[in-house]
Amino acid sequence: MNRSVSERLFEEAKKYIPGGVNSPVRAFKSVGGTPLFISKGIGSKMIDVDGNEFIDYIGSWGPHLFGHNPDFIKQSILDALENGTSFGAPTELEVKIAKLITDLVPSVEMVRMVNSGTEATMSAIRAARGFTGKDKIIKFEGCYHGHGDFFLIKAGSGALTFGVPTSPGVTKGNAADTLIAEYNNIDSVKKLIQENKTSGRNQIAAVIVEPVAGNMGTVLPEKNFLKELRDICSEEKIVLIFDEVMTGFRLSKGGAQEIYDVKPDMTTFGKIIGGGLPVGAYGGKKEIMEMISPAGPIYQAGTLSGNPIAMSAGYAALTYIKNHPEIYEQLEQNSAYLENGIKEAIKLSGRNFQLNRIGSMMTLFFAEEPVTDYKSAIKSDTKLYGKYFHEMLNRGIYLPPAQFEAMFVSTAHSKDDLDKTIAANFEAMKKIIE
Ligand SMILES: *Cc1c(COP(=O)(O)O)cnc(C)c1O
Repeated sequence: MNRSVSERLFEEAKKYIPGGVNSPVRAFKSVGGTPLFISKGIGSKMIDVDGNEFIDYIGSWGPHLFGHNPDFIKQSILDALENGTSFGAPTELEVKIAKLITDLVPSVEMVRMVNSGTEATMSAIRAARGFTGKDKIIKFEGCYHGHGDFFLIKAGSGALTFGVPTSPGVTKGNAADTLIAEYNNIDSVKKLIQENKTSGRNQIAAVIVEPVAGNMGTVLPEKNFLKELRDICSEEKIVLIFDEVMTGFRLSKGGAQEIYDVKPDMTTFGKIIGGGLPVGAYGGKKEIMEMISPAGPIYQAGTLSGNPIAMSAGYAALTYIKNHPEIYEQLEQNSAYLENGIKEAIKLSGRNFQLNRIGSMMTLFFAEEPVTDYKSAIKSDTKLYGKYFHEMLNRGIYLPPAQFEAMFVSTAHSKDDLDKTIAANFEAMKKIIE
């Protein structure tokens, strides 16, 4: 496979952009080799600057539920573009998308649009702190909530991949207000709440969780974990935040909270909500959201928030979801088909590698025991994953360039795409196991 143009561009990029990329995991650092510079995405495929074509399972790290550049989103963007790119004044579309979100996700009674998942989670935490008058938060080891200071403590995704889950530049004060619990371990949460009480009152403003974790690889919540979290937070008057930046509109129209039937107080969104453009959102109970400026005193703003081009893409995506609930059945069937194909190859390999899947998100862990939390995830053989990644890439299959990430199936993936992927997976597994 010729990669000369990507190689040249990467050398040049490193001179002007830290590490040559605008977001760390893109750099292929944990799997080795040169990142591919992409020139085009169509449906399930991406084409790089050297003209190589790949079946893509990253989907821009989550947003592309319908594959690359679907006609209905593209048309919606083009239509919006005719009227201008930004006004800094309210538009009708913002009302429509807010209404649509509250319709799809009933726990969200009011919603505020922002520009990224990071902004959504940072703002949700501020809202929870302002609302409760408490400072501390509980997050889970291996969960990633964007790059806000108080989240970069034992974080997942790139932070985990690059071995700096707790980043330099985060102050001791920030770190001290973030308490770390273990995913799928309700006792670890109870213990933190008990340890952080003064005169009988806990100091915890919020518990934030990925209801299905995707940023230590795909890790499912065990039976009752989310329900018990809900109960404790209600008892202790702690705001429960579901970070559905990845799972929102991916697992079902109402996200993970619909599937597990647990209503958080607040929810954060990103990725699919923007239809491929930079959008995030946070929302929840009216009594909390009415504390947000200018309705209330908690300040949060954004020059380009609710941008008409971005909203047109997001509105097209969410409208499609509302009108086509059958896509989730199709995604489930196709993803199960892929899962089974990969599992057959695992069987043949004689190893006990773990494949975690829910709906259209999954991770093949090169670990031999069930992966249920951070500690079991990091037992994975990341070197072996790197080899596997390149064997797949050489066969035209583009997977996440790191073990601790989810891969995504889109509605654009055809049976032929899945069969090619399964065939490539057989060969790749054989090659790396011998
Ligand atoms: C991607 C992600 C974020 C961060 O979103 P950005 O748009 O990258 O800032 C936050 N939380 C979760 C669960 C994510 O998957």
